[in-house]
Amino acid sequence: MIRLSGVAKSFGAVEAVHGLDLELSRGKILALLGPSGCGKTTTLRLLAGFESPDAGEIEIAGRVVAGGAARGGTRGADIPPEKRRVGMVFQDYALFAHLTVVQNVAYGLKGIVRGKKREARVAEVLALAHLDGLEDRMPHELSGGQQQRVALARALAPEPAVVLLDEPFSNLDAALRVEVRSEMREILTAAGATAIFVTHDQAEALSFADEVAVMFEGRVVQVAPPEDLYHRPATRAVAEFVGEANFVPGTAEDGRLRCALGTVPACGSCAGAVEAMLRPEALRLRPLTNGGEDAGAGVGATVLAREFYGHDQLIKLRLDSGPVLCSRLGGGPGFRPGERVAVEVRGPALVFPRP
Ligand code: ATP
Repeated sequence: MIRLSGVAKSFGAVEAVHGLDLELSRGKILALLGPSGCGKTTTLRLLAGFESPDAGEIEIAGRVVAGGAARGGTRGADIPPEKRRVGMVFQDYALFAHLTVVQNVAYGLKGIVRGKKREARVAEVLALAHLDGLEDRMPHELSGGQQQRVALARALAPEPAVVLLDEPFSNLDAALRVEVRSEMREILTAAGATAIFVTHDQAEALSFADEVAVMFEGRVVQVAPPEDLYHRPATRAVAEFVGEANFVPGTAEDGRLRCALGTVPACGSCAGAVEAMLRPEALRLRPLTNGGEDAGAGVGATVLAREFYGHDQLIKLRLDSGPVLCSRLGGGPGFRPGERVAVEVRGPALVFPRP
């Protein structure tokens, strides 16, 4: 449904996006995830047609909408935003303050369908977005979550090829965000929509998207379903950006890693001197009661600190051999600073070449 190849865009000396390749299938939701300034919004604006690429090609629903000079003449395509079949949901929702809910949604259909057909489509998307009963309200009479559903309904009304959402949850407080997120996902799925949303929040990307594209410095460095991205990050930088990670130096050979945590199964394509990544939940802890020295199958460590979050907790510890690591446990009783523990590894360590 969407294809960007070799897309580049600079603003003066700043290369906002360069050599960007990305594809998305029909009906999928993709998160563009990356740190501030990595080019996420620029990518969205290039897709929407608010910016033109300096190089490369953008295709929406099988049609080249920007670039493609090599294929289609000297200048390439530059289809204006309103002709791209793109729906936008902005960070601040951008609802028309002087129009009711119905009028806001109907606005998206201007020049596309008229009369009874328009009324029927508006009623259909209002029902889809659970806005029945709120038709005659003005935007200021709605909660943040409701305003956002109106913005989504307005974007979905003309049945766009793709819906683009720019940081759609950043204006909501933490508690509401989780609720609105699952509502929005449900609405997009029910509509069979293809969607791309921009976020710098990794939890949001992992929980909302079918595919996550991680961007650093104007490039997509990995695209993968959330589980793969979390468990098989392509590089150390991706591993660090997506969730918490422990890194330990070691030696890998024949699917085994020797490191400060003992000998553990390893996955990843490199061998020899490596850096191994272990998620905090892969480190299991056991209290050491027998004088605090015999760690049995594990390795000895001392607890340095504990952060309790309710549903889980992070335990910072120092292995007797020196490295400081982090373990994630359930929300039950934890370990206190100073306590002696045995650390065991659950599951394989992912190995990267040592920098
Ligand atoms: P954030 O998460 O902070 O919104 P982002 O990943 O969306 O960041 P972009 O807004 O795409 O990043 O910006 C990428 C780079 O391009 C930044 O260095 C930014 O300052 C620059 N940039 C973006 N738009 C313009 C513009 N209109 N003029 C000049 N520089 C720009």
